[in-house]
Order: sequence, then structure tokens, then C-alpha cells
Amino acid sequence: MEVRNSPLVLAIVTWNDGVNRAMELIAAAHIAAEALRARVGVLVTAEVSENLTAGIETSGADLLYRISPSLKNFARSGVTLSVIEHVCKGLDPALVLLAADMVGIEIGSRLAYRLHGAYVSNCMAIEQTQDDRRLCFTRPVYGGRAVEVVTSESLLTVVTVKPKCFVPSPRAARGACAWTTIANEMAETESGIEVVGGSGPPSGAEAKLEDASVIVAGGRGIGNEAGFLQLRELAGLLNGAVGASRAAVDAGWVPKTVQVGQTGKTVAPELYIAVGISGAVQHLTGMVGAKHVIAINTDEEAPIFGVANLGVVGDYREILPALIDALKNTV
Ligand SMILES: Cc1cc2nc3c(=O)[nH]c(=O)nc-3n(C[C@H](O)[C@H](O)[C@H](O)COP(=O)(O)OP(=O)(O)OC[C@H]3O[C@@H](n4cnc5c(N)ncnc54)[C@H](O)[C@@H]3O)c2cc1C
Repeated sequence: MEVRNSPLVLAIVTWNDGVNRAMELIAAAHIAAEALRARVGVLVTAEVSENLTAGIETSGADLLYRISPSLKNFARSGVTLSVIEHVCKGLDPALVLLAADMVGIEIGSRLAYRLHGAYVSNCMAIEQTQDDRRLCFTRPVYGGRAVEVVTSESLLTVVTVKPKCFVPSPRAARGACAWTTIANEMAETESGIEVVGGSGPPSGAEAKLEDASVIVAGGRGIGNEAGFLQLRELAGLLNGAVGASRAAVDAGWVPKTVQVGQTGKTVAPELYIAVGISGAVQHLTGMVGAKHVIAINTDEEAPIFGVANLGVVGDYREILPALIDALKNTV
């Protein structure tokens, strides 16, 4: 593994999580690299689509690395962590960027610890300090009610990047865009943890939640699992995805993968339809980036109406069937 004098900012793509997410990560890497006068490297640990490969190759990164054989089982985060640790020890990056997704959140702080570096979670913006070439990282605190700006004095900093905060911009390709393959010699069980159950990555409507342009989200007001069938039907008609509040997830009506909010996903669709969701700050944190919000709620005092462009006061069990019928007649 080649190490040159100028520092390296390394963006790590841990699974085939869609082109957008990877491009956001690389956009953040470019901002940091410009401030540090560093090179941008991209490390891909997962088996990724041709689309994503092409996106990375034309992202303006200086160095491209991939693991072979690639890591297929995202659930074995311990193996992913150990492989990334090994690569980082060879490449000696100044900054490591991971998406603040399930994998990034789980391994980010552990990676920083193993590399004797600092850790910054959920970064929304990167800027340069006025006086020197240190970086300032902006991150939400108090459930998104405030932000703090932190800087790192460590030689190495691991940062998880909050989704939808960095806008990918086209850049001229630099370097030859040739991939350097790094052999993965780690056994799948080397982390000391053997996975004996679980499920694969989410699929279908659930998988595209973060990239959906329309989200129909349900809360405790939906009342039961069956109620979410109506939300799914509406989402299907609008070519969108289903989301949920934590209350609906905790009730077991929908999987955790569709939770929106402070401890769930951050989304920024064109249209967010909040059904039976009161609008607690922890939920709003995850969806304030939505361009348009429609709220359906029986309580006209519900805080969700405070962020809605269009509010409908009423029982969703009456409103959704009428809406679905109207859409069926027009689509
Ligand atoms: C540390 C922490 C992290 C958290 N993280 C998250 C998070 O990531 N995401 C999240 O969502 N929450 C999160 N929460 C929980 C959050 O505080 C709220 O408890 C939760 O968002 C409430 O969910 P809800 O709006 O579905 O339920 P409720 O607040 O109970 O609201 C239900 C709404 O449904 C309406 N309703 C009832 N019946 C109907 C009907 N028939 N038709 C239409 N409307 C109806 C009611 O008027 C009410 O407004 C977190 C909390 C903490 C402390």
C-alpha cells in the first residue's frame, strides 16, 4: 500500500448502499481534502453495483481501493471493522469518513479507538478553522435542537457523515482511476463473534427510504400493523416508501429500518406525508429536510402541524381510503 507525503482523506463505502450515499460521503471527503490539501481516497469494502463503481470512478477521487474478496455479510461488523483497521494502518489517513448508517454508527467509534484517533459522529458540515488548517465539524446535539462545532487535535479523526447533508457535485476525474486491490485474508469469524441468526439488508420499499422522493410515514395513531397496509398502498401509488415514528416501531408494527428521527434515519424527500404522528422533536429531527409536508392527525393541536405545508385534521381511516381512491382514479 502506497503512502505519500500529502495527507489522505479516506471515504469508506461499507456496502452497496446506493450511489447517492456514497457520493455524499465523497463530497464530504473533497471538502475536507481541500482544506487539508490532502488527497481523496475511496475504500470499498463491499460488493457494489456497476452503477456505484462508475460513480466512484468519476467522483474526482485520487486513489481507489477495494477489498478482495469483498465483505458480503454486513451483519459481521466485527470483521468489517478489523479489515478497515488493517487497511487504515497501512494507508495512514488523516481523516476517515464513514456514512452515519447502521454500519458506520456501529464501527465508527470502535475504529477510532483502535487507531488511537478521535471520533466525531453525525457530521453535518465540514469547514476549515480561521487560523490554521484544522477542520471544524458541525454536528447536531440535544436531539437536533442545537448544533455544536468541534475540532480535533488528533493526528487521525474518524467521522460519521449524516445523510443528506453534503451535496455531491461533478468533479473532473483525477488520476488514472485505477483500483488498487487489497487482499482480505481475514476469516469471517475472526472478530470472535459468530452470527447465528438475523436478516439480510432490507429490500423493496424499506430499502429505498432515504432516497425516496415521497415518504408516507405512520405513527402510533395508525393503531395496529394492519393499518400500515393502507400506508403501503398509498406509498405504492405515489412510487414512494413507508416510514414510521419510533412509537410505531416500538409497537412492532414496522421494522426499525423504517424509523425516521433522532435514533432512526434522516430523510429529505420532496413530499413527506405524516399520518398519526404527533411531531415530537426527536421525530422532526429526521424529516425537517423534507421539501413539503402533509400532516394527517385527529388532534388539531399536534405539533406536526407546525412544520406542515398542508394539514388535514381528521381520522386517517376515513381520509386515506378517500385519497387512495382518488389517486387510483387519476393514475
Ligand atoms: C432519546 C430519544 C430518541 C428518540 N428517537 C426517536 C426517533 O428517532 N423517531 C421518533 O419518531 N421518535 C423518537 N423518539 C420518541 C419521540 O419522543 C416520540 O415519543 C415519538 O416520536 C412519538 O411517536 P408518534 O408521534 O407516532 O406517537 P404519539 O406522540 O403518541 O402521537 C400519535 C398521534 O396520532 C394521532 N392520532 C391518533 N389516532 C389517529 C387517527 N385515527 N388518525 C389520525 N391521527 C391519529 C394523535 O392525535 C397523535 O398526535 C425518541 C425519544 C427519545 C427520548
